[in-house]
Amino acid sequence: MSVPTDSRVTFDGRFARDLPEMAVAWQAAAAPQPALLVLNEPVAAELGLDPAFLRSPEGLSLLVGTAAPDGATPVAQAYAGHQFGSFNPGLGDGRALLLGEVTAVDGRLLDVHLKGSGRTPFARGGDGFAAVGPMLREFIVSEAMQGLGIPTTRSLAVVATGRDVRRETMLPGAVLARVASSHLRVGSFQYAAATGNPDLLKRLADHAISRHHPAAAAAERPYLALFEAVVSAQASLVARWMLAGFVHGVMNTDNMTISGETIDYGPCAFMDVFDYAALYSSIDRDGRYAYANQPLIAEWNLARLAETLLPLIDDDQEQAVPLAVAALEAFRPRYSAAWLTGMKAKLGLPADADDDVASALANDVLTLLQDNHVDYTSFFRGLGSVVRGDARPARDKVLDVAAFDAWAARWLAVAPDADAMDRVNPVYIPRNHLVEEALDAATAGDLDPLGRLLEALTKPFEERPGLERYAAGAPDDFGAYTTYCGT
Ligand code: AMP
Ligand code: MG
Repeated sequence: MSVPTDSRVTFDGRFARDLPEMAVAWQAAAAPQPALLVLNEPVAAELGLDPAFLRSPEGLSLLVGTAAPDGATPVAQAYAGHQFGSFNPGLGDGRALLLGEVTAVDGRLLDVHLKGSGRTPFARGGDGFAAVGPMLREFIVSEAMQGLGIPTTRSLAVVATGRDVRRETMLPGAVLARVASSHLRVGSFQYAAATGNPDLLKRLADHAISRHHPAAAAAERPYLALFEAVVSAQASLVARWMLAGFVHGVMNTDNMTISGETIDYGPCAFMDVFDYAALYSSIDRDGRYAYANQPLIAEWNLARLAETLLPLIDDDQEQAVPLAVAALEAFRPRYSAAWLTGMKAKLGLPADADDDVASALANDVLTLLQDNHVDYTSFFRGLGSVVRGDARPARDKVLDVAAFDAWAARWLAVAPDADAMDRVNPVYIPRNHLVEEALDAATAGDLDPLGRLLEALTKPFEERPGLERYAAGAPDDFGAYTTYCGT
């Protein structure tokens, strides 16, 4: 069955057309009783989709994949990937489908993709489904990232399917409709390279250049320029995560995009108390994806991408390797520059402030937070008050007051701009205890806490009366937070 969508919206199948070897035409599983849990009207508007249509029975069929929109041929995408450092040549969308691409109102080409839509040929041992809680979690955290200005895939809707899924207990099932500038991953290149088909690899690289990094096409070495562009996008992205206190939690190469958007909100979390070793994922026993490791892992993943591109960079490996190495070496300075630029902004310093001074102030304040177990987000927000003459919102959080005063004296001496700080230091982040509260309520049928949380997160820099509990750190009895993968 196919449904006519809002007249302006046509789905294309460009990925499947350009890369048929990496696309398996597939159908979503039946959804016994679809019920809309949350719809992102701004994202619908960006796509030119009418919210009233999406809320209708035909719209829900589109959102759970049981009726393909006009022009669409849903496909499961093949990819490979290093998971916790070990290569798996055959991953792919085990429980997801790409419906196709839509040209957004602003002209961008966007993927519309479903997660939790049933088993595909890539499902391996999985059931192909997803539970309401984790899909709403992706909705919440991706919208929070968007609010913070961090590149991310978007969430269009979460629809309960009416089918229970078996996890530790039986849980209500759901499908997330996700929008992304594409779903091309480092693992997509690893898949193409592993097939040994040089033509497929080249088509994939050309597809990536045209969708994400078109300037590379005009470079002397387009595929090297593609790699350089991905290095740059990821250096900037991971710096943004670090500045926001975000721990992705599962930075496998199949969860790292070519576009530079954050993807796959599984075991991720924002930290409350600042901790370089912050780690939430129950399966990451060695801390491979802990907070402080994220830049190193990004660089490691990019090295895996470089390996796949070598044959395209130059026919002669002896020429290709040093070019790729030099491009990868740009990651560290780019990351450091992006991080320092962000830290200058968080500390209210002008962009041309002395790098050494800014860097020392930033690193020293982080050490202070680490040593004193201070809530990261509310401390930085509180620094604005310090500039305005009331030190308490930041100072009261630090046990070693003398250390705070010594640091603050150095910092105030460089004349920080409090208003500029308030534009970059969020009041509201998706606090783990509030996310859990909203998900528990939603799973039990009460969507109000979810709505209120989303309301706070979509305007994270705008402090609003009545939302105080959304700005506070975790309560003492919340304890250590653990997140779960493969949910
Ligand atoms: P993720 O950790 O979510 O990035 O998933 C890693 C791989 O496992 C991907 O290939 C997913 O499609 C697959 N996968 C995760 N959960 C399921 C599931 N319940 N059923 C089928 N495949 C799954
Ligand atoms: Mg994934």
